[in-house]
Amino acid sequence: RHLKKYFPITKGFLRRVVGQVKAVDDVSFTVPEGKTVGLVGESGCGKTTASRCILRAIQPTAGEIIFHDKELGPIDVAKATKEELRHVRLNMQMIFQDPFSSLNPRMTLLEIVGEPLVVNRVARGKEVEERVAELLRRVGLRPEYMRRYPHAFSGGQRQRIGIARALALNPQLIVADEPVSALDVSIQAQTLNLLQDLQEEFHLSYIFIAHDLSVVQHLSDRVVVMYVGKLVEMADNEALFFSPKHPYTEALLASVRQPDPTLRRERIVLEGDVPDPAHPPSGCYFHPRCRYAEARCREEEPALREVEPGHWAACHFAEELELQGAL
Ligand code: SF4
Repeated sequence: RHLKKYFPITKGFLRRVVGQVKAVDDVSFTVPEGKTVGLVGESGCGKTTASRCILRAIQPTAGEIIFHDKELGPIDVAKATKEELRHVRLNMQMIFQDPFSSLNPRMTLLEIVGEPLVVNRVARGKEVEERVAELLRRVGLRPEYMRRYPHAFSGGQRQRIGIARALALNPQLIVADEPVSALDVSIQAQTLNLLQDLQEEFHLSYIFIAHDLSVVQHLSDRVVVMYVGKLVEMADNEALFFSPKHPYTEALLASVRQPDPTLRRERIVLEGDVPDPAHPPSGCYFHPRCRYAEARCREEEPALREVEPGHWAACHFAEELELQGAL
């Protein structure tokens, strides 16, 4: 709730603070139990910083991160004590983007997947082996491989190892940061299906970070779109994909690959890059790239409003524009 993460910009030997980057600026959303929230936007929009705050890998500048722990009840992760944080971290795990660099090449599968169990004193000796074998089996890898090193596995298999490791402590929430973007397209679907099966089986909640909207559409119940640190649109999957209310979402949707040529949409080219968050544009941050921008957009920052029940957008003209959806 109202999550903010600002980074100071320093200059010179004395590191004098000369400004700040609002990497995450007043972002609020809820992840219901057993559901998936997709967090989307281009690189540099604040998705990863937001997720790192949620896991308290970095301390947020302001805001609350309320985690409903199954034993301790609601805990504000942003202000959690060391003991609370230790507990919460057992229940929140992460799957990383790059299965090549996120696994220690000097550790066997047994050590990689078993490490959280040993470090958190959940299992010892033979128990660790049994639990690792069970986890490997569950993600579609043969337990006989547990004494091998990551280099012996393909990208897709390595991502399965990362998933097995994330599952080791029976978490409630998994933050998956672009988990399939480094994989071949043919392997992406298998990995997404595995994540979906695991969600049903273990009643997991996911925060799924991606820039590829087709992947998010496949997996998410609700979608949050971020632009230069701000939440610009949030809605249930169907509402967001078929009836977007923000021109940035429309442009992202237009870039999704469409295999059926009869369904090809008008090509909307997003000109330019995401603006420098240290020097964002005036008014609506999206106005330099928006094809609907008017004078008001350059002067006045749009507030995030509930334009339809459960559908939020930060655009002055959200109700008037007829934007193209995914079909
Ligand atoms: Fe585009 Fe204006 Fe809406 Fe911003 S407020 S998204 S510039 S139409």
